Amino acid sequence: MARPVSYNVTPRKLENDISLANMPEGYQGEGFFATKLSDVVGLARKNSIWPLPFATSCCGIEFMATMASHYDLARFGAERVGFSPRQCDLLMVMGTIAKKMGPVVKQVYLQMAEPRWVIAVGACASSGGIFDTYSVLQGIDQVVPVDVYVPGCPPRPEAIIDGFMRIQDLIGRESIRRRNGQEYKALLESYGIQ
Ligand code: SF4
Repeated sequence: MARPVSYNVTPRKLENDISLANMPEGYQGEGFFATKLSDVVGLARKNSIWPLPFATSCCGIEFMATMASHYDLARFGAERVGFSPRQCDLLMVMGTIAKKMGPVVKQVYLQMAEPRWVIAVGACASSGGIFDTYSVLQGIDQVVPVDVYVPGCPPRPEAIIDGFMRIQDLIGRESIRRRNGQEYKALLESYGIQ
């Protein structure tokens, strides 16, 4: 008797696979929708992030998995990973940063145009991790301001995606005036950045 053949293909409804970006809060009526400019800019920015992966060790491997087909960071509008700081707006530092590398991380950050954001991925980038030694930077926030910390050694791709979504929340809610504010200037000055 012939063995039944099963194909691993299930009919899919495309509308169930596509999630649309939620529209910002606002007022709507027949034929119009009004909202804040900041919210519209935030919506566009948060769904078109261009990450710069600064991967120095094992956490970088987790990021590779995050980018690959199973986890697929492209679903969040961030498929354009770049290695040119001038064309990226999210610095993702993944791995142990030796003190010698500190100025390099800062240089990369300085070459990124505003608005720019930073994620410290994993224990090493966040706090030095298990390497409490003379040669390892005890957290990249000693050289650049960090927006989101992802815990774990290494963090699983789910954790990296969670950190990424936290950054999206921050970006979506950020006022377009924030970068010109005194508070932001004071933050940069505390890092010796003009
Ligand atoms: S946090 Fe752990 S996995 Fe990540 S770079 Fe450090 S030692 Fe490696």
